[in-house]
Order: sequence, then structure tokens, then C-alpha cells
Amino acid sequence: MSKEVSIVGAGASGIFSAILCAKAGLNVTVYEQNTKIAKKILVSGNGRCNISNKNLSSSDFYSQNPSFVEFALQSFPFNSFEKFCNEIGLFLNVLDDGRAYPHSNEAKSVVKIFEDYALSLGVVFHTNTDITDIKKLLKESDAVIVATGSRAGEHLGGNADGEEFAKEFGHTSIPAYPSLVQLHLNFKHCKKDEVE
Ligand SMILES: Cc1cc2nc3c(=O)[nH]c(=O)nc-3n(C[C@H](O)[C@H](O)[C@H](O)COP(=O)(O)OP(=O)(O)OC[C@H]3O[C@@H](n4cnc5c(N)ncnc54)[C@H](O)[C@@H]3O)c2cc1C
Repeated sequence: MSKEVSIVGAGASGIFSAILCAKAGLNVTVYEQNTKIAKKILVSGNGRCNISNKNLSSSDFYSQNPSFVEFALQSFPFNSFEKFCNEIGLFLNVLDDGRAYPHSNEAKSVVKIFEDYALSLGVVFHTNTDITDIKKLLKESDAVIVATGSRAGEHLGGNADGEEFAKEFGHTSIPAYPSLVQLHLNFKHCKKDEVE
């Protein structure tokens, strides 16, 4: 019998994990507290979704564990990601500086393609479902993946649930702080678009 995997959070990482697990033959259910999946992807890259970067390297990351960053980038380099995207019909436009966007230039097409692909593999999404008891969910499943994201973008569903769940299993977490923030200027000669 196929194993049951529950995934908490239907953001980029939850949806991608769901696809990988379903491709491996597992039964996958994704729980999302919002009414819709992938709200954060929809606003990414100003609605265009700067989905990856061809020139990514470990020097682009701040980390106390650089070897993990190295491992992650080597395990799934840009070329593998681009190949995967091509296979599911998500064609990328790679700019001269390495930034990659969907050909459509629309984040919503990224969400639609990933969602449709996940559904075609049998992934079940339960939206409007806030998971509060992670141990109960683990009892009901063979495995649970916590993909609840960070606190960034509270209006999009950002919270610290992942850290709380991790604590329940005895993990500690390194304090997080914002690293990419908006600038609000009180300067009448500088328009919003010029600042961005
Ligand atoms: C304005 C903005 C622009 C950005 N632009 C870019 C960009 O162009 N390129 C780029 O690479 N990155 C961009 N990012 C960053 C990128 O969007 C995030 O790194 C990425 O979406 C994080 O994905 P995630 O799956 O880890 O988390 P999230 O997208 O936060 O997904 C986590 C999900 O879990 C759900 N959840 C949380 N707790 C629970 C619970 N207890 N029960 C059920 N569901 C729960 C949340 O509602 C959420 O949907 C941007 C971010 C922002 C805010």
C-alpha cells in the first residue's frame, strides 16, 4: 500500500515537495490555511515571478552552514530546474544577468502550471485548513513535511508556525530577521516606480 504523506503549507516549497513525493508514488495531501494556494508566489517579482537565477552560487547566501547551501545547489542546479520546468510546460526566459522569469511574465501562470501538474499526479489540496496540532497530523500520516515558510508577508500567510512545530520535536531555531525589505520614503521628488 502506498504511504500517506501530509504537507503543511501550499507555498513554493510545499507544492514542489508534493510533486516530488507524488512522482515517487506516495499519496500526498497538502493543507493550506489560506483560501488559495501559493499566495506568495503570486506577488513574487512584482507579479512576474523571478523564479530562479542561472548564476546562483553559495556566495549569494548568508548562512551559518555554507556546506548545506553548496549541497542544495549541487543537488538541484539551475539546469535541472530548467529541464523540469520545460517538461511540465513552464518555459523560462533567462535574462543576460541570469535572472529567470516565466515566458508569460506572469506569476499566476507559474502557480497554474505547478498546481495542474500536482493535481495530475493525484495530489490533494485542502485549502482553508489551518494545522495547529502537528503531532496529531503525524499520527494520521506516515510522514509529515512542514513547509510553512517564514514570517515574511503576514498578509500572505507568513507566520512562525514552522518554528513552533520544530520546537515540539525538540529542535532549536536560529533567530530570523528581515533581509529584504521595502523602503518608505517621505520625499516628494521621488516617485514610487523610481524607487523600485
Ligand atoms: C513581495 C515578495 C516578492 C518576492 N519575490 C520573489 C522573487 O521574485 N523571486 C524569488 O525567488 N523569491 C521571491 N520572494 C520570496 C519567495 O516568495 C519565498 O521565498 C517563497 O515563496 C517561500 O516559499 P515557501 O513555500 O517556503 O513559503 P510560503 O510561500 O510562505 O508558503 C508557506 C505556506 O504555508 C501556509 N501555512 C503556514 N502555516 C500554516 C499552518 N499552520 N497550516 C496550514 N498552512 C500554513 C501559509 O499560508 C503559506 O501559504 C518574494 C517574497 C515576497 C514577500
